[in-house]
Amino acid sequence: VTPAPRPVVELVSIGNELLLGETTDTNATWIAARLAAEGISVLRKTTVGDDVATIRDVLDAALRRCRTAICTGGLGPTPDDLTRHALAALYRRPLVVDDGWLDVLGERYARRGMPMPAINRVQAEHPEGATLLPNARGTAPGIALDDDAHGLTILLPGVPAEMRGLVEAHVLPMLRQRLRPAAPLESRIVRTAGVSEALLAERIADIAADVAPLALAFLPHGTGVDLRLTYAGTSAEAGRALLDRAIGRLCERLGDDVFALEVVDLAAVVGGMLRERGLTLALAESCTGGLVAKRMTDAAGASDYVGAGFVTYDNAAKRSMLGVSAATLETHGAVSEACAREMAEGARRAAGADVAVSITGIAGPGGGSDAKPVGTVWMAVALGAVTHARRIIFPGGRAEIRERSAQAALDMLRRALSGALHG
Ligand code: ATP
Ligand code: MG
Repeated sequence: VTPAPRPVVELVSIGNELLLGETTDTNATWIAARLAAEGISVLRKTTVGDDVATIRDVLDAALRRCRTAICTGGLGPTPDDLTRHALAALYRRPLVVDDGWLDVLGERYARRGMPMPAINRVQAEHPEGATLLPNARGTAPGIALDDDAHGLTILLPGVPAEMRGLVEAHVLPMLRQRLRPAAPLESRIVRTAGVSEALLAERIADIAADVAPLALAFLPHGTGVDLRLTYAGTSAEAGRALLDRAIGRLCERLGDDVFALEVVDLAAVVGGMLRERGLTLALAESCTGGLVAKRMTDAAGASDYVGAGFVTYDNAAKRSMLGVSAATLETHGAVSEACAREMAEGARRAAGADVAVSITGIAGPGGGSDAKPVGTVWMAVALGAVTHARRIIFPGGRAEIRERSAQAALDMLRRALSGALHG
């Protein structure tokens, strides 16, 4: 009995639009994640244009390395879709027409009352001896071709939804049978906000040094840092126990800096807290122009806890909509502690809400001064009898300053709601 091949594949993404930077290669990312969950590793990802010789050579090299390759793109009916030709060239097989798929295509068009365009006939073509993988969502079927000289190549259409359907329905079952998958990687995430990567690393240095055989990764992303723990051993049960223990230690150490143990937006976490406490929220945004309102209302059912959001970009709007006093604007300016406080309290009053958050700052690139450089942002949270205010000077360009302001304000609200903010 020959041993099953190693659970390793290569991915080849095909399309000139990928090389031109017009399309982001989300297909390879999605397939890699899906395979990792199955215990199948990706050895290499390659991106190539719609060119027969290049596709053939890249595929040839991939198969020499690991004997299993998955390609996406270039199965369409137009003359620039050449992937099936490259496969035929590599395996030295003629292209033949699959009458069964031709009938399927003909019927689909007939049902919509349309004749099938002649060029769609190409999509029933495949190298002789290949297996067609029926595509329920589109006209291009997947194509699987396997022989002793080369190994297995699977071609999938580039359209993401079609590709995903084929992977679930055909590719994974085929690979599970062919390869002997290792235990799937188990990983967990710890999402933090309000702490820099360096500070976080310092605070958990002793834990990080001690998590082996787990791997700990720091994933900073501009508005926070995620910690990812991964187990790659053979016993899923032992892995889960190790992960639970390590997550427990990290949470204990980091306390309120952790806002979630899953991939979820901070705004959704805050929404859950408001719902749980039966509180309604009002927002007063200046430099963020409604970013916080947008994120707070991304979740369905947000009307349960979001009352109103005011985008008061101009001083006149801060006065008329929120009741910020002329004296405050005159004496301290719009980017000031006093203004942030009055904005939050005014929004809460105007919306009849329980809690309010305000943001006022200088997103740049112009408008900064020595006293208030670009990136200076005041934010406030009005909750109960207390209004908390805070200033942060954010680094980055306009977009980053706006994103970071929104995140910091949401984090301030989260901490206030959990009672962890004082003063
Ligand atoms: P079709 O049968 O629809 O013609 P196809 O196999 O020819 O599909 P392409 O023409 O290469 O696929 O791409 C179709 C669509 O899918 C395009 O909008 C393209 O931007 C998108 N797409 C292609 N490859 C990828 C990829 N690697 N990641 C994300 N999107 C992709
Ligand atoms: Mg294409």
